[in-house]
Amino acid sequence: MAVLRITALAGGIGGSRFLRGLLRAAPDAEVTVIGNTADDITLHGLHVSPDLDTVMYTLGGGIEESQGWGRAGETFAVAEELAAYGAEAQWFTLGDRDLATHLVRTRMLAAGYPLSAVTEALCDRWQPGVRLLPMTDDRVETHVVVTAGDDDESADAAGDARERAIHFQEWWVRLHAEVPARRIVLVGADRAKPAPGVLDAIAGADVILLPPSNPVVSIGPILAVPGIRDAVRGAAAPAIGVSPIIGGSPVRGMADAALTAIGVPTTAAGVAELFADLLDGWLVDTVDAGATAAVEAAGVRCVAVPLWMTDVDAAAAMARAALDLAEEVRAR
Ligand code: GDP
Ligand code: CA
Repeated sequence: MAVLRITALAGGIGGSRFLRGLLRAAPDAEVTVIGNTADDITLHGLHVSPDLDTVMYTLGGGIEESQGWGRAGETFAVAEELAAYGAEAQWFTLGDRDLATHLVRTRMLAAGYPLSAVTEALCDRWQPGVRLLPMTDDRVETHVVVTAGDDDESADAAGDARERAIHFQEWWVRLHAEVPARRIVLVGADRAKPAPGVLDAIAGADVILLPPSNPVVSIGPILAVPGIRDAVRGAAAPAIGVSPIIGGSPVRGMADAALTAIGVPTTAAGVAELFADLLDGWLVDTVDAGATAAVEAAGVRCVAVPLWMTDVDAAAAMARAALDLAEEVRAR
């Protein structure tokens, strides 16, 4: 039989844990991952790509399991020294081991290599078992528009309700998404081009998967790169998504705050609706079985299965269910 070609879009933790299950469920498949780079941030002059690194470390066996991001066995000597200088941004912790990745990435980017080539070089070491492509080689950054004064640094003398845009990481990591977002803006997305190989991986796939990644700030930016959403919608392969929302809660993290910012309810059906134009199938958790009818009314085949990624076996069972659903909708 021909090798199954799977193309998945992915953010960080939710995406990587699902992908690890996918590789266990389909060990012979050829998997291409299109990673979100709109979380990327420059810190201390270094280019940090949190979501690409989470995929690379998780699949390459270097992740700190207990938190789901960062390097296992990490130390923080450099962060302590930076703090002693009062060097910002201290709310974003960079571990010593992790720093080596950012140093190599930054040096290669400065030498003129595109991010896609840099990512390939970094994956040479980690051997994640997938082809990892950034969504774009261009700079796209998620910014969050907040009310000036809501975040403690930007109140002006009049204390009025002017807007201020901050980098997504500042909203998420420093402010824990507790400050209401007025809007989420994907700076640069309209001018970005898909990275080499991205559109081909979508057009040539047998199955397209949307793992349970944050729909607004992980999957959203990938689909916002001009050409990608159309490619997924127009692809011959079925597109199957896995709900990142279980029983009205984002399982871990603050995805509800991001959904609220774009006016989407934090429900499995609400997220399905966001992607209904391109989805053929959608998995919801068994507690959300009551939502399947609403999703199917939007023209998306919907099945309820357990969606808690408690360990790799549980993630593998979810991936298996997604591949089975792809087979089912293909046969129709
Ligand atoms: P990030 O970039 O590190 O925030 O990671 P992603 O965007 O890839 O995934 C984050 C999302 O994963 C969260 O918003 C959760 O909704 C979802 N998530 C995390 N753990 C689980 C789980 O066990 N099951 C499901 N269904 N979703 C999960
Ligand atoms: Ca992310």
